[in-house]
Amino acid sequence: METNSELLDKENLTRVIGEYPTEPGNQSPGPYLLLSGGIHGNEPSGVLAIQRVFRKLRKVKPSLKGKIVGVAGNIVALKKGVRLIDQDLNRVCTLANEQQLKSGELPDFHEASEFRELMLIIEKLENEAHNRAFHFMDLHTTSSNTAPYISVNCSESSFDFAKQMPLPVVKGIEKYIPGHFDHYQTLKGHIGFTMEAGQHDDPKSADYHEAAIWMVLVNAGMLEKSAIPYEDYYQLLDNASPTNENFEVIYRQEISEDHYFRMDPGYANFTKINQGQRLATLDGETIVSRAQGRVFLPLYQTQGSDGFFIVKQA
Ligand SMILES: [Zn+2]
Repeated sequence: METNSELLDKENLTRVIGEYPTEPGNQSPGPYLLLSGGIHGNEPSGVLAIQRVFRKLRKVKPSLKGKIVGVAGNIVALKKGVRLIDQDLNRVCTLANEQQLKSGELPDFHEASEFRELMLIIEKLENEAHNRAFHFMDLHTTSSNTAPYISVNCSESSFDFAKQMPLPVVKGIEKYIPGHFDHYQTLKGHIGFTMEAGQHDDPKSADYHEAAIWMVLVNAGMLEKSAIPYEDYYQLLDNASPTNENFEVIYRQEISEDHYFRMDPGYANFTKINQGQRLATLDGETIVSRAQGRVFLPLYQTQGSDGFFIVKQA
């Protein structure tokens, strides 16, 4: 089976992957939904899933309330198959950078221009949507084999929206990692979340992303449940995740530069831990858990500034 990056048609990749309904005249009143994939260029799964959804929408032509728009994130990085060019696009979507870009300045890193184009699309859709609900879903994957989960900012309406999905939901990462694309859209008052679907190149990741998109269209009140095999999508996601509980981030193990971090073997996302349990070493010193909870995003690569997070039930 082909990997996700082999399946991605890099030559013909454009910023706007699709819009539905295609003609503005065919639009009936309803919410707006912005789908984004490939904010990290080595994560083609979201783009593939968005392409599949638009292909099916154009073929089946279901009646849809509102409008759905799909965009590709870091286009240059996607074409090269790399995570980023100069800076992590999922860290530079800040209001400060927005301000600078709006004043006509272009910061001298590549991702500034990617963020600028995304920003302008959001602005245009905001104007179109007026006071209609504006939802978003940002699609990601992980380097290791991880069960799908949702990350959501500390916004009551986004948390409620995310909780409808049969996946574990983790809220509050923006306190530790600001400037992600989800964070930017949350600050703009939009309702949505980030979905991590699994390993970057695993074809299952694109299936999970696609299932989640269809479910979100129903949950947002844009599509009738009967228009899609909703229960199949629900089961697919439900079976893929170890838990459906909701969590909140309570701790981040920071690794500053020049420090040697090593996670103990055997931890995965949502592994249960006790207070005082040994988790890792930092420069040879043992690190134990400060609280009872679950491990989140344990770092088993050499690079990164977050060793692990601890989440507790929300
Ligand atoms: Zn990502």
